[in-house]
Amino acid sequence: PEAYVQELEDKLFDLSFKLKNKKNELAYVQFVNKKLLGKLSHNLKNPVGVIFSFSEMMLADIDNYTTEKLTKHLKIIKNSSEFSLNFLNAVNNYVRLQACDFEMNFEEVKYLDFLQNIVKNFESEAKEKNITIKTNFPSAEILAFIDKDELSEMLNNVLNNAIRFTNPYKTIIISVNENKNNVITEIRDEGIGISSKDLPYIFDEFYVVNTYSEDKQKCIGLGLSAVKKIVELHFGKIEVESEEHMGSTFKITIPKLQKM
Ligand code: ADP
Repeated sequence: PEAYVQELEDKLFDLSFKLKNKKNELAYVQFVNKKLLGKLSHNLKNPVGVIFSFSEMMLADIDNYTTEKLTKHLKIIKNSSEFSLNFLNAVNNYVRLQACDFEMNFEEVKYLDFLQNIVKNFESEAKEKNITIKTNFPSAEILAFIDKDELSEMLNNVLNNAIRFTNPYKTIIISVNENKNNVITEIRDEGIGISSKDLPYIFDEFYVVNTYSEDKQKCIGLGLSAVKKIVELHFGKIEVESEEHMGSTFKITIPKLQKM
C-alpha cells in the first residue's frame, strides 16, 4: 500500500505541475489577446477616422472639387485603407497561426526550385528600387519536407523586410547550404541594420523600431513573429545578426526531414 500511495502522490504532483503549466499558457494567451485587441483598436482608429473625415468632406463640398484636390484626397483615403487592410491581414494571419487546431501540410519539395520562384517574384520590386538580388545556391537540388504555403509566406516576409529596410543601389544576397540534417537559408541585406538594443525583441509581437519603414510604410510588427512561429512549426530555428547602417542577416535552419 505504501508504494501505491507513493505512486498516487507522484501522479498528483505530476498533474498539479501540468495544471500549473496550462494555467500559465492560458494566462499568456489571455495577455496576448488583450494586447491584440488594444493594438487593433489603437491602430485602426486613426486610419478609419481619416477615411471617414475625408469622405465626409468630399461629399459636403463635391461641386467645388478640382481634379487635383480630388486626386489628393482620394490618395489619402487610399493610403489609409491600404494600411487598415494590411494591418487586418497581418492580425488575421497571426491569429490563424496561434490557433491550437492549426495544421501544417508537409510535402516533399525541391527546395532550390521553390526558393528561386519566391525570389523571382521580388525581382521587379527590387529593380524599381535599384536593389540587386543575388542568389548563391549549391548546384545540386535539395529535397526538403516542408509546408510550401507557410514557408513561402515566411520567406516573403523576410525578403520583403530586406527590401523595405534597404536603400537603393545596395545588394541582397540569398544563400543556401545544407548539412546532413538541415537546409540553411541566409538572407543578407546591406540595409539600415538593427541596433543591439532592439535586436533581442524584433521577433516579439508588435515590436517595431520606427513607426515608418524607409519607404514610408507604417510598421506593424507582426511579420517577424509570424516568421518565427512558422520556422518553429517546421522544427527549425531563425537567427539574426545585424549592425546599424551596415545591414542584417537572417539565417533560417530547417530540418530536411520532419519528425512526423
Ligand atoms: P513590420 O515589418 O510590420 O514592421 P516585422 O515584425 O516584420 O514588422 O519587423 C519588426 C521590426 O524589425 C521592423 O519594424 C524593423 O524595425 C525591424 N526589421 C525587420 N527586418 C529588418 C531588416 N531586414 N533590416 C532592418 N530592420 C528590420
